[in-house]
Amino acid sequence: MREDICVKDGVILKDGRAVIPKSLQEKALNIAHEGHPLAAKLKTILRERVWWPGMAQDAEKWVRTCQSCAINGRPEKTTPMVRTVIPKTAWETIAIDFNGPYAKLGGIHILVIVDYRSRYLIARPVKSTSFERTKKVLDEVFDIEGFPECIKSDNGPPFNGDDYGRFCHERGIKTVFSTPHFPQQNGMVENYMKIINKSMSVAASSGGNYNEELQSAVRAHNAASHTVTKMPPEVIMHGRKIKRGLPLIDRKLLDYDNSGIDERDRAMKIQAKHREDARRGARKCQLKPGDTVIVERQTRAKGDSRFGTQRYTVMEERNGNLVLGDDEGRTIKRHVSQTKKVVEWREQSSGHPEAEDAIRTQRATRNRKIPKHLQDFICMADVNEN
Ligand SMILES: [Zn+2]
Repeated sequence: MREDICVKDGVILKDGRAVIPKSLQEKALNIAHEGHPLAAKLKTILRERVWWPGMAQDAEKWVRTCQSCAINGRPEKTTPMVRTVIPKTAWETIAIDFNGPYAKLGGIHILVIVDYRSRYLIARPVKSTSFERTKKVLDEVFDIEGFPECIKSDNGPPFNGDDYGRFCHERGIKTVFSTPHFPQQNGMVENYMKIINKSMSVAASSGGNYNEELQSAVRAHNAASHTVTKMPPEVIMHGRKIKRGLPLIDRKLLDYDNSGIDERDRAMKIQAKHREDARRGARKCQLKPGDTVIVERQTRAKGDSRFGTQRYTVMEERNGNLVLGDDEGRTIKRHVSQTKKVVEWREQSSGHPEAEDAIRTQRATRNRKIPKHLQDFICMADVNEN
């Protein structure tokens, strides 16, 4: 490249850019990385002004080894969805979760139950998410519907407690847990939470009785034909037509296309899986036992970095579901898409006040209640079957 090089006022230039000697390259990287531009932008900033051999690779490495960029960067790619098969009968497998708290309605939570075959929805306001309250509601529901074969929930309280485990065991109910705080990006889940949230905001804004609003919304869902099953959830659930406010001339339930439900459910899930996997760039989990990761904060105040700086070691990996251990032998469960692999970070120079901020805010952990999402019909994280 001697043709491109010249000397001007004692400075070596290449294509009009200053050639930076080895001893000043780090300093140049440090200056160019002010404000933490990502690799592509950092390279542009450098390329417009300076040059040295291997500058692009150095710039990439600079960003990769920057702690501030890491803890505010993107998590690992998620894994492809695992398609679940619709249960053969209603009330065989149900999902249970809480929504809330609703601050405008005295901080109540809504206990939400959905049947996986019929899409039958049950919602009950509760004052707390304690096992005592949960048990009371479950007993009431099971008195009418009987026990399901299986309950899916996340493994946050009260589902992670011995009381809940014993309750299910005594009733011969299998429990399946998912990785906590793993938002399911399935439109169907959102639709259920939308139904609940809408009725609660109607109640809050109209000053109406939230219980009545909630039950009306649930009834409307259960009485209307579902797009996948083509039957009202309450009809599949109870095997008969249900009389409501409008006249019901013929109470007889004609034979319905039961196998059509399985086919449509399968087709819908395959389509949703392809769409979601493509949208989220899903790929097989790249982490393996022994790798070091940082995990996303579960609550974040304004200004908090996306990831904490606490490091964990991957102890187990199953279909993207990770068991992580810290130095003191504690373990947590996370999905790969809630983590980021740690590369060795370089010493943070004094020109990086953001890094110190990040460490400070991490100590000031907030105990805010995390809204949880209902485990849904397509799940990426079924672990701990027992
Ligand atoms: Zn950075």
